[in-house]
Amino acid sequence: MKQLKKKQENNPSPSPSTLSKWDRQYVWHPFTQMKEWEEEDPLIIERGDGIYLYDVHGNTYLDGSSSIWVNLHGHRHRTLDAAIQEQLGKIAHSTLLGAASPPSILLAKKLVKIAPKGLTRVFYSDDGATAVEVALKMAIQYWQQQSPPQKKKNTFVHLDAAYHGDTMGSMSVGGTARFHERFRSLLFPAIALDAPYCYRCPLDLRFPSCRTACLEPLEDVLRKRHEQIAGVVIEPMVQAVAGIITQPPGYLSRVRALCTKYNVLLIADEVATGFGRTGMMFACNHERVTPDLLCVAKGLTGGYLPLAATLTTERMYEAFLGEPGKTFFHGHSYTGNALGCAAALANLEIFKKEKTLVHVRKQSRLLQALLKPLAALPIVGDVRQCGMMAGIELVKDKKTREPFPLSEHMGYRIATKCRHLGLLIRPIGNIIVLVPPLSATERELRKMVHILTKACRTACRTISL
Ligand SMILES: *Cc1c(COP(=O)(O)O)cnc(C)c1O
Repeated sequence: MKQLKKKQENNPSPSPSTLSKWDRQYVWHPFTQMKEWEEEDPLIIERGDGIYLYDVHGNTYLDGSSSIWVNLHGHRHRTLDAAIQEQLGKIAHSTLLGAASPPSILLAKKLVKIAPKGLTRVFYSDDGATAVEVALKMAIQYWQQQSPPQKKKNTFVHLDAAYHGDTMGSMSVGGTARFHERFRSLLFPAIALDAPYCYRCPLDLRFPSCRTACLEPLEDVLRKRHEQIAGVVIEPMVQAVAGIITQPPGYLSRVRALCTKYNVLLIADEVATGFGRTGMMFACNHERVTPDLLCVAKGLTGGYLPLAATLTTERMYEAFLGEPGKTFFHGHSYTGNALGCAAALANLEIFKKEKTLVHVRKQSRLLQALLKPLAALPIVGDVRQCGMMAGIELVKDKKTREPFPLSEHMGYRIATKCRHLGLLIRPIGNIIVLVPPLSATERELRKMVHILTKACRTACRTISL
């Protein structure tokens, strides 16, 4: 007892103001202008419970971004907590290089069972960007190991405004100029096509009378250049970071058909959409599509630990069998981490036990109804939603769809207001993004949308519309 007291005296829990000072002194935050950060009092989250987060001052917030799209069943879920503790009692990590481990074996088997039919092999990594990086490298090597080798198939097609992560390869197939432009000279060339952004249709057409004409450039490029194209990389159903750009029905299945027709691999990046976020286990399920490579991360562990996987087909896998030179020389120190795999197994168990997908579909309909009135506000141009991912596009002029200049920080201002009212969300430019944990109850969803609506109304008043 005496010893414990002494230990506490030597290492007292720092006060909120000390933590705030140290954060600004030592931590460099991602995607953050640190000059602005240093001028503010940082939000320091100390604990979570269900879909609530608590800061060091004891303030309570609804987790309206699922802690950046990773959390599924809420924080401190008993099944997840227990699974990690149980695994910790055995071992935290052992390598998959030259050895196997029970959690990674069991998880791979489960993933194959729930994945779109035809995906039979699981390659682990650590986060979304690496899952995409793995898919790109596998695709290139796959074509090289065909007989005869198809070495010319060494480029990729992707959508404009796509986001696949921040490593060099994943940036190369991304279209987020603001993040990636500086590194252009280091990125490999890839072919970018217009995104199916219906609210701001690049062809100035309307769905469904357009007959998804935005797919014609894809067919054109595949017809002309399929001998050089290794794969098409796409975020199925929803381009998340692009601003929750939802794809028109039939789009994804036609992309699949075109890839098959022109002998090009389809790489589905389900880092954001996977694990129920869109109302199906995987977004590809909406259109009964099986990609050749499927990348998952964010929700894989229910939002608990960093773990990612790239799933692929037997056909892909077999191309890597044979002499040592055919090996896929790629891996990470923490590949297949046991704690992560244990969390992921618990995550899938919860899906079954709590009928998560049934709940999500019901809540998605509710969310749609709740968000509908927002569309009438003078600053709201478009409300887009797919399952538990919603994007509200703010506009300066509703008629002309003129956006707010980014310098007005409209999204940020509304998010700040929401934070004061007890809801945490992270906007993307002029898009308010609401991605609640899948477990959100009716009351919690109502509360979130109520706060969001109030914040938008306040914004309307302050710019006197
Ligand atoms: C978040 C995200 C990534 C990157 O995942 P990280 O774990 O942050 O590396 C890749 N693709 C999509 C679609 C994402 O939303």
